[in-house]
Amino acid sequence: MDTKIARVEDVQENIHIILEAAETIKNGGIVAFPTETVYGLGADALNPKAVEKIFKAKGRPQDNPLIVHVFDKKIDELVESIPEIGKKLIDAFWPGPITLIMKKKPVIPDITSASLDTIGIRMPDNDIALKLIELSGTPIAAPSANISGKPSPTDIERCIEDLSGKVDFIIGGSKSNVGVESTILDITVDPPCILRPGGITLEMLREYDERIYIDPSIMEKSDLNSRPKAPGMKYKHYAPKAKVKIIKGNREKTIEKINDLVQNYIENGLKVGIMTCRERVKCYNNNAEIISIGSENNMQEIARNLFEALRSFDDRNVDIILSEAFIEKGVGIAIMNRLKKAAAYDILEL
Ligand code: AMP
Ligand code: MG
Repeated sequence: MDTKIARVEDVQENIHIILEAAETIKNGGIVAFPTETVYGLGADALNPKAVEKIFKAKGRPQDNPLIVHVFDKKIDELVESIPEIGKKLIDAFWPGPITLIMKKKPVIPDITSASLDTIGIRMPDNDIALKLIELSGTPIAAPSANISGKPSPTDIERCIEDLSGKVDFIIGGSKSNVGVESTILDITVDPPCILRPGGITLEMLREYDERIYIDPSIMEKSDLNSRPKAPGMKYKHYAPKAKVKIIKGNREKTIEKINDLVQNYIENGLKVGIMTCRERVKCYNNNAEIISIGSENNMQEIARNLFEALRSFDDRNVDIILSEAFIEKGVGIAIMNRLKKAAAYDILEL
């Protein structure tokens, strides 16, 4: 398939590009586009044949539901009812990186919700995404625009790498600002439950209902045969080609352990990567490929750079990535959730 690739600098000046992409969506095609979390791969959420193409292009298992993206806060046609807490959170956080799970109306086809009677909906905080959805005249179902299992793309180059030849259109905008996927909050249950941590943190949500909690199972390894509350969670995720190992301990011990391991792996003929923060780049054995993903005092920056760093290690052909652990507070919870999955829960606690 020929994939049209176009970059949008400015929504007004490049409106013809967005119009053409919207036509593609209307005609049942699939389009990769920027959002503030990560890039998405979208199709008309109400057209089962179009949605099926997303699953094919990504190699995504059919029991992994998609999130439906809307361009304004009017979602009555998509859901049975909006619980009071949902109304408050929509007012407070949309457009923004939070997906709300609600009971769906029959207009949403089974393939979009993976046959669940619920649907996740969000309004992205990105001008290009909002204009694309508006001009398409339909809600857009969109998972991340990567081959299933790989780290999500946060810029157009990574979308091209994964999806060129597999999708109709790739629109580029700026780099995704949040860098990890949306927080997913199930509001069909009381109290509401976080099924995936993201840019809107537990602390922010508790301002609206202090009983909101993170589903305990999501920070642990789940087994492939169970059916977790958020179906996508059981699958391999965010995984670069290299093996990832997380080293967790105090600063001095972590540095010492990582340097020991590097020495050891190198002696065994392996190419090693180290993922760290800016403050500690100089502490490590520079026979390794060292990538800083931001300042340890700026979790937003670390979230923004995490997936790109994992992909860059693959570009450098490393065999193993040793990563520091990050503090599990605020956005740090989302960062560690993605990192643990990337590492298939290989964590060395010192
Ligand atoms: P992605 O779009 O790739 O970030 O994945 C969306 C994720 O949202 C899925 O993997 C599910 O875990 C979760 N999700 C989507 N819809 C639902 C739903 N109706 N109920 C529970 N989890 C959902
Ligand atoms: Mg994804």
